[in-house]
Amino acid sequence: MNLYRAKGSKASRLRQRKHELVRQYDIPENALPGSLVLKHRRCGKPTCHCATGKGHPMWALNFMANGKANTERIPFEWIDEVQPLHQQGREYKNAVAEVFAINAQLLTLMRQQHQAQKKKKKKPRKPRKP
Ligand SMILES: [Zn+2]
Repeated sequence: MNLYRAKGSKASRLRQRKHELVRQYDIPENALPGSLVLKHRRCGKPTCHCATGKGHPMWALNFMANGKANTERIPFEWIDEVQPLHQQGREYKNAVAEVFAINAQLLTLMRQQHQAQKKKKKKPRKPRKP
């Protein structure tokens, strides 16, 4: 049985969007997870200009792996390569989440239509008066 064969314009809109996303996204093998942030950190040298200022700028990737939070410093010379891979990862993750949500919505529509069909078939008859 195809769980996602619900009828109607909402269902076909959802399916259309789903196929758009599925076609668009092959698994991007080099994509990066998490959040990419620009931090400022003081190096600790008392004579450094950063001791009184904001600190040295530094890119970091915060991500979860095996249920553990990680932070990885990203060298400045890598950022032009890392940024698009991070963006790609975020878009892919959003697309996957949207496809799964669409499947759940299609399942809901299917259930509703199935229920309505059952009611139509089984119309209770009024007992006739003798
Ligand atoms: Zn410093």
